[in-house]
Amino acid sequence: MGSILYGPVSSWRLGRSLGVDLVSTKGKTCSFDCIYCQLGRTVHPLVRRREFVTVSQLAQELETVRNIVVDYVTFSGVAEPTLASNLGQAIELVKSVLGSPVAVLTNSSLMPREDVRRELSQADVVVAKVDAHNEELFRRINRPRIKSTLDEILEAIRRFREEYRGKLALQMMFVEASKTYAPEMERIAEELSPDEVQINTPLRSCAVKPLTPEEIAAIRQEFAGLKGVVTVYEALRLEVIPLNLEETLRRRPKL
Ligand code: SF4
Repeated sequence: MGSILYGPVSSWRLGRSLGVDLVSTKGKTCSFDCIYCQLGRTVHPLVRRREFVTVSQLAQELETVRNIVVDYVTFSGVAEPTLASNLGQAIELVKSVLGSPVAVLTNSSLMPREDVRRELSQADVVVAKVDAHNEELFRRINRPRIKSTLDEILEAIRRFREEYRGKLALQMMFVEASKTYAPEMERIAEELSPDEVQINTPLRSCAVKPLTPEEIAAIRQEFAGLKGVVTVYEALRLEVIPLNLEETLRRRPKL
């Protein structure tokens, strides 16, 4: 496999998933620099969309996996996928070549852009990150490089929800700094009305300690009134392997 496709990897959220890294830079390229990022500090902070790999490069790599059987083809990798200005074309190409459902994992930072929401709407599943309930915590946890405020991003997700016909999941990463704000986060989830809420905590090596199963269970209690809530520890009890980007990166040269 080449440098754009990787895996398949097992994901607690998406089952067996073939990864697409449409940015494919050597170090992490992101519009955030989250304190819990498994990939370390952001090497290439970027806030503008541009083309990193061409659709014809992607087409060549897709030819090598034409017969692969996966639950999803997932746009993720070591970068924020919405930074790729040809994301919409790439989703269309993957669907026409492989016929598999497509998921996009996004940090939501570019969702205030109409073109980004339009391209995301081509995916069958969009997993959108929301880690904080106010601007101060957003800046402390996600360390955004973009100008958009948390309110603007939440408003964009709300608009996307209204227009989008696929499955929208919110991923909420809880850490020490945010663990007492579960009621506020639940109110955000209620207002955005996703199909699923994924309650997560950083279990792989990073600069931040994960919350314990008891702490995550207490947070989950606050979400008891919502449908489709799943926590990373529940998924582990079912022996589903969590998506691990570090491991994915380590494996990539061999694939
Ligand atoms: S959005 Fe994802 S890739 Fe970017 S810094 Fe945060 S955890 Fe890392």
